[in-house]
Amino acid sequence: MNTFNEENLAGNSKEAIDILGRKWKYDCMSCAIAKGELELPGGLIFEDKYITIGADVEIPLNGFIIIATKRHINSISELTDDERYDLIDYIAEVIKALKDLNIIEKVTIVQEERANHLHVWIFPCHKEYEEKFGKGVGSIKDICKHIKDNITDEEIQKCLETVTKLKEYFMEVKDGRNK
Ligand SMILES: [Zn+2]
Repeated sequence: MNTFNEENLAGNSKEAIDILGRKWKYDCMSCAIAKGELELPGGLIFEDKYITIGADVEIPLNGFIIIATKRHINSISELTDDERYDLIDYIAEVIKALKDLNIIEKVTIVQEERANHLHVWIFPCHKEYEEKFGKGVGSIKDICKHIKDNITDEEIQKCLETVTKLKEYFMEVKDGRNK
């Protein structure tokens, strides 16, 4: 049974049911992802020394991407210079990828220090949901609740396709940097 839990939005839950219906238990979701103990729906999009990039575990909203640090810290202010550069760089790359791949035109970025483990939401602003629930940060909770309560196979499929496209995109980004 998929029920919406607002606390899970901060990623502080100890368990979750992912969009494929798999049950997960962990001490910290982002640490479990960083260690490869939790296999994201569609798999991890990208990881490097400091960060992981993946689709949201619980909300099948096309283009909803989470960038988390590998280190278990709570605030952007705790990042080292290298981590800070990496994080902002990949936030920019994810937004660019979502636009280049025509997945979404605009995003809202959210980072809450109430989360135990630092992660950033790249939240896609889909017109159909903006019309229903309003624009910007204020509507995010309602949109997530609506999607969680009305999961469809079609949406899940779209999300998984986007993960595949983003994986390919980031392979190219990485190749470009190695040249
Ligand atoms: Zn953690």
